Amino acid sequence: MKTSSIALLVMFHTILSLSATFATPTSFHENFLQCLSLHSDPSIPIYSPNSSSYESILQFSVRNLRFSTPTTPKPELIITALHESHVQAAVVCSRKYRLHLRTRSGGHDYEGLSYATDIPFVIVDLLNLQSISVDAKKGTAWVQAGATIGQLYHNIAVKSRTYGFPAGICPTVGVGGHLSGGGYGTLLRKYGLAADHIVDARLVNVDGKILDRKSMGEDLFWAIRGGGGASFGVVLSYKINLVHVPPVVTVFSFNKNLEEGATALVERWQYVADKLPQDLVIRIVINVVNSTQRGERTVQTSFQALFLGRVDKLIPIMEQ
Ligand SMILES: Cc1cc2nc3c(=O)[nH]c(=O)nc-3n(C[C@H](O)[C@H](O)[C@H](O)COP(=O)(O)OP(=O)(O)OC[C@H]3O[C@@H](n4cnc5c(N)ncnc54)[C@H](O)[C@@H]3O)c2cc1C
Repeated sequence: MKTSSIALLVMFHTILSLSATFATPTSFHENFLQCLSLHSDPSIPIYSPNSSSYESILQFSVRNLRFSTPTTPKPELIITALHESHVQAAVVCSRKYRLHLRTRSGGHDYEGLSYATDIPFVIVDLLNLQSISVDAKKGTAWVQAGATIGQLYHNIAVKSRTYGFPAGICPTVGVGGHLSGGGYGTLLRKYGLAADHIVDARLVNVDGKILDRKSMGEDLFWAIRGGGGASFGVVLSYKINLVHVPPVVTVFSFNKNLEEGATALVERWQYVADKLPQDLVIRIVINVVNSTQRGERTVQTSFQALFLGRVDKLIPIMEQ
């Protein structure tokens, strides 16, 4: 990685990690709001703890309830950006007032990193930046960070029956955090990670400037494709290459618990799963459930599969 990229990274982290220097919440709010209004248009939506919808907006995309308790630290302000310029203003003002900035897209971070931290902070929430533009002729799409991967799949399917995108399984996961961290799902064996298919991006850097692939350079572009969200700037949108899928696919799932021979099946699966054709993915989800046979707790394995083809082609493979 070039020196300039490392310096940029360190600066982004350091500046946005310093705690607020304001004497009182009132002076903080006034200064910060003034800064935002100077750097963006007045339509910028800002929610303080006094706003009636502050709590519902904060909780809207929280997925880990461990970070939704009365003692979980809450942001000084939430900015639900409507335009790219609102994100730029959030970065510029956080830097100016040395306030920690948390970026949230889909809110699925396992550790609540996008909406909770122990030092005073502001959230820039991209939930309104959900535009998706699919070019079915070229097999590409631009998707804003606040869209969910479910919305992305839906938009691709509306435009084409023979394109898909290899990302995660849970449809409510956000594009912003998912693609910047890698992103894997049922097309993994054939097409790899979501991040492998990113061909361009728009990112707000620590100076509040919008960079694309060309202006950010290949080192930074490499880093935002798997290096983890929020380390390098705020990703506004990604341009992705779509992948070919057949118009008809086959899915199946079945459950086996311990009493039904789950252990032997899982053992067998370990030896065959990686040798199956790449058009077939079989994953296992393991849960603790109530046993239907004895009414006691047991371990249940759920086999879930996607085959890129029709069932008549799948059956001979499964019979082998
Ligand atoms: C129920 C559930 C199902 C999941 N299923 C899968 C799956 O099938 N496959 C898989 O690979 N992963 C899966 N994950 C993990 C998920 O992909 C990651 O947690 C991902 O980072 C979530 O992205 P997000 O935008 O929803 O989350 P957020 O909480 O919004 O963000 C996650 C991280 O990325 C940062 N970030 C968010 N947006 C941006 C942005 N625009 N620019 C820069 N940084 C940003 C945040 O600050 C935070 O650090 C799942 C998670 C959950 C909770």
